[in-house]
Amino acid sequence: MDLSLTDEQVLLRESVREFAEREMRPHVRAWDEAQHFPVELLPKLAALGLMGIQFPEELGGAGLSAVDYCICLEELARIDPAVALSVAAHNGLGAAHIAMFGNEAQKRRFLIPLASGRALAAWALTEAASGSDAVAMRTSATRDGTSWVLNGSKQFTTHGLHADTLVVMAVSDRSRGTRGVSAFILERGTPGLRAGRKEDKLGMRASETSELVLEQCRVDDGQLLGGEGQGFVNALQVLDAGRIGIAALSVGLAQGAYEAARTHARTREQFGQPIARFQSIRDKLVEDARRIEAAR
Ligand SMILES: Cc1cc2nc3c(=O)[nH]c(=O)nc-3n(C[C@H](O)[C@H](O)[C@H](O)COP(=O)(O)OP(=O)(O)OC[C@H]3O[C@@H](n4cnc5c(N)ncnc54)[C@H](O)[C@@H]3O)c2cc1C
Repeated sequence: MDLSLTDEQVLLRESVREFAEREMRPHVRAWDEAQHFPVELLPKLAALGLMGIQFPEELGGAGLSAVDYCICLEELARIDPAVALSVAAHNGLGAAHIAMFGNEAQKRRFLIPLASGRALAAWALTEAASGSDAVAMRTSATRDGTSWVLNGSKQFTTHGLHADTLVVMAVSDRSRGTRGVSAFILERGTPGLRAGRKEDKLGMRASETSELVLEQCRVDDGQLLGGEGQGFVNALQVLDAGRIGIAALSVGLAQGAYEAARTHARTREQFGQPIARFQSIRDKLVEDARRIEAAR
């Protein structure tokens, strides 16, 4: 299999790398220490097409490929995995769910602002008692005439505080198990929807992760996404496509750590020479570089 990049992809890697070095590297430590989610960076990411990487140009996206998507996430994560995580969650979860399963009206109303970076997406599946076993969720959606009423809470929602558009999974028919979960598109400011506690994380602290609380939160039937009872099956399909982005993010994170270690080994001196001259240190660096290249 030929895994070499096209000329356009080499150029894409260079421009995202240059962007991350210029706009992100000077702030990484401050953002991390303050747990500051850099909303001020979002218009700059959007200008580069990074808020709608794979969505069609007619829907506000950059119309790039899955490999291009991986290149972008790898380069962002090389400098700041937290920003890469936010870009991945926006593109690969919230916006992707609408792109994959939304009807035309939903795509025009919600996806265009997301893909062009005028709005920020969140995607809420996980709850306190349902992580890997996501279908055990308790949040409920009850039909009431032409609307639905959502009640419950979500955990670990990326952009739970700042998202403009949120895709929320809820049980609409408990007797139907995996076929009894539906997805809904919610907007920030909807009565009954609020962000809960923000997580104080150990890593990726500049990516905002929080609880969501839904109390008698009413949404119109037109905000049901992908059909009644399809929410869980569709969520798994969204995750299938999104995982490649998290893998690319991990390669970028490893690359950044490797480069930091290599720089340190070249500049740190012991016994009168840079520690990079010692065979055992060189072995470790070579092994790391080999494993990262294999992962890529
Ligand atoms: C930074 C961050 C951002 C996130 N963003 C979002 C988001 O935007 N939206 C969202 O919905 N969720 C989000 N999540 C939640 C994430 O998807 C969950 O953490 C994940 O689903 C795992 O759930 P859990 O953490 O409750 O772990 P658990 O399900 O409690 O699992 C704990 C451990 O047990 C293992 N395990 C579980 N079941 C099995 C099994 N059957 N066999 C073997 N091992 C098993 C797991 O692999 C894991 O190692 C985020 C999480 C983090 C950390």
